[in-house]
Amino acid sequence: MRSLDIRIVGGGLAGVITGLQLQQTKPKDAEYRITAYEMADEPYTTLCGEGISHRNLSRFTAFDSMKHCAQIFQGAHWWLPDGKLLEVKQRCYTIERKTWIPAMAEKFQKQGGTLELGHKVTPEELKGFAKDADLVIGADGPGSVTRKTLVPDAKVDVKLGIQYRVKGSSFTSDWLEFYTDKRYCSEYAWVFPKGDTMNVGLLADDPAGDWKRLDAFMADKKVGGSVAQKEAYPIGFSGTKVQGGPRNNVLLVGDSGGMTNPVTKGGICATILGAEILADCVAQGKVAEYNQRIMTHPIMDKSFRRAIHFITEQDNEDINKFSRWLPDVVRVGDGEPKGKYFTAVLKAGLANLTKMPDLLSIYRALALSKDYSW
Ligand SMILES: Cc1cc2nc3c(=O)[nH]c(=O)nc-3n(C[C@H](O)[C@H](O)[C@H](O)COP(=O)(O)OP(=O)(O)OC[C@H]3O[C@@H](n4cnc5c(N)ncnc54)[C@H](O)[C@@H]3O)c2cc1C
Repeated sequence: MRSLDIRIVGGGLAGVITGLQLQQTKPKDAEYRITAYEMADEPYTTLCGEGISHRNLSRFTAFDSMKHCAQIFQGAHWWLPDGKLLEVKQRCYTIERKTWIPAMAEKFQKQGGTLELGHKVTPEELKGFAKDADLVIGADGPGSVTRKTLVPDAKVDVKLGIQYRVKGSSFTSDWLEFYTDKRYCSEYAWVFPKGDTMNVGLLADDPAGDWKRLDAFMADKKVGGSVAQKEAYPIGFSGTKVQGGPRNNVLLVGDSGGMTNPVTKGGICATILGAEILADCVAQGKVAEYNQRIMTHPIMDKSFRRAIHFITEQDNEDINKFSRWLPDVVRVGDGEPKGKYFTAVLKAGLANLTKMPDLLSIYRALALSKDYSW
């Protein structure tokens, strides 16, 4: 019998999803002793907009997540500065992570996993884990001590997200609403309804002005209501490597490995896909293939990095110049033919020849994001 001692650092989203995925895919002739360490005193959720597509949530069959879905949407609306709309028709949800993550942690423990709460793993301990355990899984988020200690040549980009939890708002929508408008921030701001509350936030640019711009965004979109909570947290993306350590037995998953989609900053889906690949590698006895399988998966596609740099650098006028070739409403997703808008992107590229590679990278990044990022 193959017996494995597996240590997971972090009992948040990536930690519990990976634990459950490992338990679900464990071969009958194997024994896994899985211990997850969480520095908080209870199974914990970090800050999140909590948007996730049905397509990707339903991939994760190790847990029945549906009762933690707070609201159902037809898809996502992505608004451009000139008011043009990218409509991605694809059922999606806001999920209540405050109950979802603890419920997953409970199932993980019921199935034989150990969760040590209030245990902050130190760099010294990690070196011991890497020596003594069969596998060490870094699920400890964007600032990962596992990555810094055991896979120091892995690099992850980090961006701060800020968000209000709003109560009593009269804003309603059947869609998750994203807005690219440089008056508020260089990437995008969002309004995600969530039952009685609403997640309203933006990707931060500079601490001095971010909250003021979020206030201006809330006022312009007539969100109303009152702010019940105000939070900020970093997001890890564009990871360069997800495996290492002295025995190549250290695997990074979720934001620890920079798996979040750089363009949409959707990390729940990337975590689900990353955990699935990780558990498959372990079950198949092919742990050595983990880095290669992740780095060649569409969640880590090279177009994302170029696309997000380009989007960040453009002002509203530039974006309007490129989007003038598009119809007022660009419909993608369920039932819409693939490649329908390629000609419009080519026209924009031909009119701005030096920007053609950037526009094509955005086209590719958005097409992949539709399927693999939220
Ligand atoms: C403002 C904002 C909005 C977002 N919106 C969305 C969205 O709508 N949809 C989406 O898909 N994604 C979204 N994301 C991204 C998503 O939240 C993250 O990708 C996801 O939470 C990453 O999960 P993780 O478990 O890898 O890391 P984390 O959530 O950071 O969890 C890491 C865990 O490890 C623990 N830990 C850290 N160090 C140690 C240690 N040394 N010892 C023990 N435990 C440790 C922490 O306490 C934590 O519980 C958003 C992120 C932000 C900041």
